[in-house]
Amino acid sequence: MRDVIIIGAGGGGPVVAKELAARGLDVLLLEGGAPHDQPREQWTHFEDDAFNPAYGFFRIGPKNRERPPWVREQPRNSYIWQASGVGGTTLHYYGNSPRAYRGAFAGYDGADKELYDTAHAFPFSYEELVPYYQWAEATLPVQTAAMGTKERVFFDGCESVGLPVQTRKDTTEASFRPQENAILQPGGTAGRTSDGGALQHPQATGCTFCGYCAQGCMNPPGAPRNQFAKRSTDNSYVPMAVTADAWAPGGRRAELVTDAYVTEIHTASQGGETVATGVTYRVNDDRDVRREDAKVVVLAAGCIDSPRLWLNSGLPNPNDWVGRGLTDHYLDWVVGLFDEDTGATKGAASAARADYPGYGGLEQVGLPPALQSFSMSFSGSGIRGVYDLGRGKRGAWDGPTGRLPGAELMQAMENGADNLLSILVLTGDDVEPDNRVSLSQLFPVDEHGRAAKVELDFTRRTAKTVARRDFLANRAAEILRGAGAKKIYRIDWAPLILHTQSSMRMGGDPATSVLDETCEARAVKRLFVADNSALANALGGPNPTLTTQALATRTSEVIFRRYFGGDPWVGDETPVPSTDPRVSAAL
Ligand SMILES: Cc1cc2nc3c(=O)[nH]c(=O)nc-3n(C[C@H](O)[C@H](O)[C@H](O)COP(=O)(O)OP(=O)(O)OC[C@H]3O[C@@H](n4cnc5c(N)ncnc54)[C@H](O)[C@@H]3O)c2cc1C
Repeated sequence: MRDVIIIGAGGGGPVVAKELAARGLDVLLLEGGAPHDQPREQWTHFEDDAFNPAYGFFRIGPKNRERPPWVREQPRNSYIWQASGVGGTTLHYYGNSPRAYRGAFAGYDGADKELYDTAHAFPFSYEELVPYYQWAEATLPVQTAAMGTKERVFFDGCESVGLPVQTRKDTTEASFRPQENAILQPGGTAGRTSDGGALQHPQATGCTFCGYCAQGCMNPPGAPRNQFAKRSTDNSYVPMAVTADAWAPGGRRAELVTDAYVTEIHTASQGGETVATGVTYRVNDDRDVRREDAKVVVLAAGCIDSPRLWLNSGLPNPNDWVGRGLTDHYLDWVVGLFDEDTGATKGAASAARADYPGYGGLEQVGLPPALQSFSMSFSGSGIRGVYDLGRGKRGAWDGPTGRLPGAELMQAMENGADNLLSILVLTGDDVEPDNRVSLSQLFPVDEHGRAAKVELDFTRRTAKTVARRDFLANRAAEILRGAGAKKIYRIDWAPLILHTQSSMRMGGDPATSVLDETCEARAVKRLFVADNSALANALGGPNPTLTTQALATRTSEVIFRRYFGGDPWVGDETPVPSTDPRVSAAL
């Protein structure tokens, strides 16, 4: 019998694996997708090779790219952007690691309190999470982003509208700032040359400014895996978990098994309670079925697959909240066209942001050309000036909302995206019970059980959520205007589901939550959730992963204390950064 089995090696699962392996527990980490263990051989910078949903190396699917992706039933005109394999969706992520706004937590009493989704607040205070934020920030590590031209243009715009700059971790007022990023700052030749020969580690360390954050970070060439620039978990927490005996006194290596898809969580009845006892999973292209037992099971399969596995396992769902309350920051996209070269395709993809606590945030994002064209072709409004699906809006941007018609798109892309500056709108969206993950009744059952059905569309938004998004889109357009854009487009994105939160939410109210205030399932003891689905809400808009990782750290301590008789460590010890040379040497 294992001490702990963790399901999913994405943003959250590896945190628990690392923390508990470092405490000497016997940890098994099961990941349904590919190992991604030889990135320089397995990945490329060709966008279709990476992103194609059917066969891209970062699709949602098994390791064997000859096999089909894992299917989901999803809303019409939507795109779910995740990745499977070691690292999960952090393979794509930009490393932006802001903390949540204070108003997302219980006990917040600021003057803007009513602007937040107070009915679904975190069941503890912001202050309580701070030591766990600090621990995760030191482990990854999180640093102030290295910036270039696109950030200068964005900051010019922010200053032109009178926003103040702020430099604290804790954002309390409308302001702009460099991102706090889980990307190592450039050192040596990195960021100073595009000559590949001069960018070898150790002459170059940290971010080389290649501009391909979303395609998995494998730079600088020659660096040990735990010193690749972007701190996706394949480069940070997973290397630490599988080498824990090398750097943690009393630590024990976690066992990582990939291509290992969990199809069932087992339970037993003990002392009148339902208790998790282990899992069944399929390996070797789904041919072999294995069963393992454990004292504790941690579900970290992401916001869509965690509820799917729960429901396919037939676990109890007494208040019907499993899968409900899915939030996604109701993203939107506002793009400015400039005469000047904005450097949009270079550097860390998103290194600057503006925050509007109570509403959400804006971040400047640079994309490689195919993604940039996609981003301007994906709208719920229809085609600008051609047809309108009844959602077209006027505001501080030029003309109606909508995707760019062909000629306008070609003109915008004339300089391969480098005359553009794009702003991502991150709305602090409300938890809505009808935005949810359930099981598809439409698709045939596959070897993993029923497919997930994702219900999340324009019709399921509160008036407050819609108003926050419009507010932010107007601010984005004003910033672009102030920065000197000659034309501004608001795309009104159709659901682009890439920040997912709260589908197995923790909460203080047992009637509207799946997890208690320690992230243990209310209906199944010894079963914890440690991915974005555990978040109580959408954090008010800030990017979710750091908060998931801080919360997963807190959950690790709870598990260690409650079921293994251990003592807490956060606040008492100094965290080892994931770049530690002992990790490199042991890999
Ligand atoms: C382009 C892009 C940019 C982003 N940028 C940022 C950013 O800058 N900052 C930020 O905070 N967030 C960002 N995100 C979001 C971020 O990636 C997610 O918040 C994070 O990865 C979520 O972690 P998770 O553990 O919930 O899920 P995931 O990372 O999706 O991990 C879940 C893992 O579980 C595995 N799995 C699923 N089902 C099973 C099963 N049954 N058995 C075994 N394994 C299973 C999956 O294969 C996957 O590896 C970005 C996302 C995208 C797409």
